[in-house]
Amino acid sequence: MAIIMDGKRLRDKILSNLKSEIEAFTKKPVLAVILVGDDPASRIYVNNKKKTAENIGIKSIVIEYPANIEEEVLLKKIKDLNSDDEVNAILVQLPLPRHIDKQKVIDAISPLKDVDCFTIENCGKLYTGLEPYVYPCTPQGILYLLDEYKINLEGKHVVVIGRSNLVGKPAAQLALNRNATVTVCHSHTKNLSDITKTADVLISAVGEVLIEDDMMKDDCVVIDVGIFRDCNGKVRGDVNFETVSKKASYITPVPGGVGPMTIASLMVNTVKLYKEQNKRSS
Ligand code: NAD
Repeated sequence: MAIIMDGKRLRDKILSNLKSEIEAFTKKPVLAVILVGDDPASRIYVNNKKKTAENIGIKSIVIEYPANIEEEVLLKKIKDLNSDDEVNAILVQLPLPRHIDKQKVIDAISPLKDVDCFTIENCGKLYTGLEPYVYPCTPQGILYLLDEYKINLEGKHVVVIGRSNLVGKPAAQLALNRNATVTVCHSHTKNLSDITKTADVLISAVGEVLIEDDMMKDDCVVIDVGIFRDCNGKVRGDVNFETVSKKASYITPVPGGVGPMTIASLMVNTVKLYKEQNKRSS
């Protein structure tokens, strides 16, 4: 039976340490979150981020716009937030409405305030082996979990399923940075299970039920990033937890695994940016 990697416990530990660190700051770090439209899931995510931030002493400003907002207004707001010394970190909640050029909006964020590591400048640093100011929240959260359970990636075969800019690609890059041998699979991959069966560590970021126990070798470490509601309204991940947990050595549950780590990473990143900006202005 696999050891369950407890994301909630680790999140609480990280947040408690951050809270103590923030108490010693002269000013509160400030995270600005832009929410466009009325997608219920986005609103829940934004509310959770705000609540978590304020519990540990980070001030969170939520700026809301209707779905029909003009791109120019959004770009102007980001420009203002970039030049506002009180704001340390900026997050644009995705998805954005279709008429808005997502990459243009993201790239309007100053790289020094880009808390998600989404701007082309910060991604460029990430993928060329230079240090971005912060690392993308979900993949960084996965590394925190692996470190907590002392799972070393060096020389291991890490199979990442999913190639999004949000999770799959940066997760693959961070695993490469840890000297893993990395294979990235996606919707066009043929014979997926032939590949997953060779994984020492399997990271699944798809958003549908995909991973069964016959797709993996014994003692694989299974990281389930997926989160969605099934047809019965139950929150679940990509992995068939019941069967896979009997064969894996470690596994993340959904909910309670990677999700809490993403939010913990966001707070870590806000504090990192705050410190970087203060270092520059002192
Ligand atoms: P996405 O839709 O952008 O990417 C999904 C990826 O899965 C794509 O690269 C696609 O090629 C691949 N894919 C789809 N069907 C496949 C199949 N049958 N076989 C192999 N690959 C397949 O999604 P995303 O933003 O990367 O998010 C993925 C999942 O992770 C979603 O469920 C999302 O809700 C979840 N997520 C969770 C967290 C968290 O904190 N836990 C954070 C971000 C995303």
